[in-house]
Amino acid sequence: MSATPRRLAHPAFAHPFMRAEDDDDHPREECGIFGLWGADQAAAHVALGLHALQHRGQEAAGIVAYDGRSFNSHRALGHVGPNFSQASVIAGLPGHAAIGHNRYSTSGDTLLRNVQPIYADLAFGGIALAHNGNLTNAVALRRNLVNRGSIFQSTMDTEVIVHLMATSRSRSVVDRLTDALGQIEGAYSLIALTSEALIGVRDPHGVRPLVLGKLRDSYVLASETVALDIIGADYVRDVEAGEMVVINNDGIHSQRPFPKTRARFCIFEYIYFARPDSISEGKSVYDARKRIGMELARESPVAADVVIPVPDSGVPASLGFAQESGIPYELGIIRNHYVGRTFIEPTDQIRHLGVRLKHNANRAHIAGKRVVLVDDSIVRGTTSTKIVEMVREAGAAEVHMRIASPPTSYSCFYGVDTPERSKLLAATHDVEAMRQFIKADSLAFLSTDGLYRAMGEESRNNDRPQYCDACFTGDYPIPLTDNDEVEGGGRTTRLTLLAERGR
Ligand code: AMP
Repeated sequence: MSATPRRLAHPAFAHPFMRAEDDDDHPREECGIFGLWGADQAAAHVALGLHALQHRGQEAAGIVAYDGRSFNSHRALGHVGPNFSQASVIAGLPGHAAIGHNRYSTSGDTLLRNVQPIYADLAFGGIALAHNGNLTNAVALRRNLVNRGSIFQSTMDTEVIVHLMATSRSRSVVDRLTDALGQIEGAYSLIALTSEALIGVRDPHGVRPLVLGKLRDSYVLASETVALDIIGADYVRDVEAGEMVVINNDGIHSQRPFPKTRARFCIFEYIYFARPDSISEGKSVYDARKRIGMELARESPVAADVVIPVPDSGVPASLGFAQESGIPYELGIIRNHYVGRTFIEPTDQIRHLGVRLKHNANRAHIAGKRVVLVDDSIVRGTTSTKIVEMVREAGAAEVHMRIASPPTSYSCFYGVDTPERSKLLAATHDVEAMRQFIKADSLAFLSTDGLYRAMGEESRNNDRPQYCDACFTGDYPIPLTDNDEVEGGGRTTRLTLLAERGR
């Protein structure tokens, strides 16, 4: 795929030489999406929006624009800035409508054919799709489609949607999309661009975010409100769980194509993923994190001299912890901002190194002190182990770790990239064993009820939980069809499934 904008005549994701090892079985689709209809230089706005959503995916970015006659695209590996700041790139993406996508992935398949938006020429014309989430029955659907003659060009679960639309007997694009989504299980916030409309849709549980904004007369769709702020657009509202909004030159039209279900927005967006300056589902992410820290201080107090955040994700919760406990707050660990999130590093070995590259102790505020470290989560335990060691080496008298979420004991299958369960520290260790593993003097996690209290609920109502909290509780609201097939040892063996998934 060329690095310059290219006109799309065929599905634009073909790359016939991908090796089997380039994919694994793990969902890795935490992404940022953005779309705009009805503004001059739409692609330039999309590039800015993607830049604000860079934290949701640093591996690759792409934009597809429509100028009234043809679709043009540019996709590249790497960050938005270096790839979309040149005037020549934006000039190659003319038009009043555009969508874009930031991709997150931790290893392997960095190939351009897996960079979104996906584009395809279907019987009704061109369509581009940008997807945040993960489809949980994509392997099963893909197998059926391949058996019926579909030829897949990428290994992305999202491509299934294009094929289901292509084979739908409905007439309009919206009906074809509805048809396709009706067969799909999983979590998705999706933005589609056709010659006639910009479409935004959230899965019936609304697991992943999608907000609606307005820029003068134009409508904007984005993963988070920070992407509206950067272009000066107003936040109108969140697209609701199970809602499809169709935006065209006549304005906006909302429909609800799916049977109604209880919304289960991803609670991990509040804990870690979203930017703190975003408003998700009407709640400030920053305030939620601070309240989480306050709740943590109430639940698991400790006698200490200083509260120190693990930057950056632990910062708002540690402010809440310090405020509630009355213990002074200091920036005792300084982060090097030129290193990406720890998880971005592709191998365990590098990830291990990454923590040292990223953080340094601010000794003057640590030496001789009883330190409370606050981080948002423990996944594999790598970060906590390194940070505790670093703080001890800097002369701390005691090191107490407080985690602003319950133990992450289950993998996410709905679009947050988490390791397989056996690699999650909390899946194999109880809290005391984790404390020993990270070598802290004490370790405490927020309780699930405490997390819900911080979100404004009385507790987690087990019959009617308000959020998707599967990573903490194992209560998966959407069937895990593909995974069950692998784990359950059903008709298909794991190896066959993995081979099918990629090809
Ligand atoms: P670990 O070192 O494996 O225990 O990972 C914990 C650190 O990774 C925490 O400091 C979190 O801020 C961060 N983190 C948690 N979940 C994710 C995720 N899904 N992607 C990237 N980073 C994460």
